[in-house]
Amino acid sequence: MTTILRGNLIHAPALGQLECLPGGYLILEDGVIAALCSRLPEQYQNSPVIDYGDALILQSFADCHLHAPQYPMVGTGMDVTLLDWLQKYAFPTESRFVDGAYARQVYHALARELVDNGTTRVIMFSSLHTDATLILMDELEQAGLWGYVGKVNMDRNGTPQLQETTEESQRETLRWLDACGQFHHIKPILTPRFTPSCTDALMAWLGRTAAERGLYIQSHLSENDREIAWVRELHPDCQRYWESYAKYGLWADHTVMAHCVHSDAQERLAMREANVLCVHCPDSNINVRSGLAPVRTMLNEGNWVALGSDIAGGDHLHMMDVITAAVRTSKLRSLLIDGSEPLTAADGYYLGTTAGHRYFGAGAGFAVGDALHAIVVDDSGIDTMGNMNFTDRLERALYRAKSEQIVAVWAGGKQIK
Ligand SMILES: [Zn+2]
Repeated sequence: MTTILRGNLIHAPALGQLECLPGGYLILEDGVIAALCSRLPEQYQNSPVIDYGDALILQSFADCHLHAPQYPMVGTGMDVTLLDWLQKYAFPTESRFVDGAYARQVYHALARELVDNGTTRVIMFSSLHTDATLILMDELEQAGLWGYVGKVNMDRNGTPQLQETTEESQRETLRWLDACGQFHHIKPILTPRFTPSCTDALMAWLGRTAAERGLYIQSHLSENDREIAWVRELHPDCQRYWESYAKYGLWADHTVMAHCVHSDAQERLAMREANVLCVHCPDSNINVRSGLAPVRTMLNEGNWVALGSDIAGGDHLHMMDVITAAVRTSKLRSLLIDGSEPLTAADGYYLGTTAGHRYFGAGAGFAVGDALHAIVVDDSGIDTMGNMNFTDRLERALYRAKSEQIVAVWAGGKQIK
């Protein structure tokens, strides 16, 4: 079936590069992009067009790191740093997801808010609870979202309410994996919480399971100084944090590592060599005072970097806010640390869209052959100074648009808002 969308198309085929087609056409065949054009080709003259008028048609967002069971505490608990924050706020909040009815209510709301804000792909942590994780996957799938979700593994340094034995963690992971076949566009990803949360035996078992079943892995890396010192104590044989994953087979193609705030040149090289995705989470890094990640340096070196809201270390689920936070944080990094070139709005848009969609095998920008992931932004209600070019309108939307301005959302070729 042919579907044609018309509007002001703005996409990001490469870092720092925008392509605009004013009043352009997106031609879809069964939800897959067949062409982008400035004028409607002859053979489509009689096809119906969904005309979005003067609105912007943008790429939808990929949120590549967030904790679903921390959704109820977004915007609270900002008074301590990472390790204290986990014990004081995050672990008690996550322990409530032993209750399936509670999980259903919270995850339904979370899925709705993601769609409303134009996020169509996620790479997400659940809690250690198998049943709640399956409920989360079900809610995301029903909302029309695409993504990877991980049941968390943690068999040490949790709390009495939030920790598994090694045997439980293995058994529950297998029970969860066996139940994941029911989902079509939400897939499982193995999720050791971070090195201090997992015994060597559990890490080794997860590495073997990833290899045997062809699963991707997500975790955290070099977020905070105290955390890094702790990993060094736990693994004195490892020169750097990343080696504590690598020695158990948990450092592989498409491994996702959140933060990498303090990753040095060697660790960044290891990421490039293995094709590890670094997820930058600017709000979280400032809220729990982890630091200012060297994003420009990583990009210049050729590292693969995308963005994450990291709720609830992060306080914004709306990826437009995460994009502008990344721009702002890069300016602080430049001013206070290394004089590096700050990110532009176009850079941020690329990191929040194309760089994350790539994890799912998508091409760059609105690529022919990809199922459509897009949002329609009606910015007519935002006060304007008059004639603005499309680059300015994109930047203004990133800084000022709310979910109300996102009037349509397309995911996997289907309209979901
Ligand atoms: Zn995280």
